[in-house]
Amino acid sequence: MPNKYSKAELNKFKKSIEHKISLIANEVDIIKEGLGSSSNKQGGLTPDSIYSVHMADAGTDSHEQEKNFMLMNRGSDYLKNLEIALERINEGSFGVCKICNELIPSERMMEVPNATKCVNCKEKGKLGLV
Ligand SMILES: [Zn+2]
Repeated sequence: MPNKYSKAELNKFKKSIEHKISLIANEVDIIKEGLGSSSNKQGGLTPDSIYSVHMADAGTDSHEQEKNFMLMNRGSDYLKNLEIALERINEGSFGVCKICNELIPSERMMEVPNATKCVNCKEKGKLGLV
């Protein structure tokens, strides 16, 4: 198995990442707007929001703003990670484990586009073996 994704596959990842970026950038904007008006109970989140699951048990208004700040920060972090993933696609290091140089399965790269280690190496890292 070649330890590199083909151009077609990389394009697929790229599209998926770009789609995620646009979704999250949108949400971060909406949340930012929501922070401006505390009367907005839903925080302006769309029903198909990737965060809506976590918003299901939204508490009182006083916690609402805190929560939105948290979501916004998490959204920004996630955005950064996705942008890093795009850079890796451009420079050709995307999807290759930096420890063992093996190809990281596409399911994992779809889920965690900024992953730089395969699951094996990640587990070893946790145990302090890498
Ligand atoms: Zn590895």
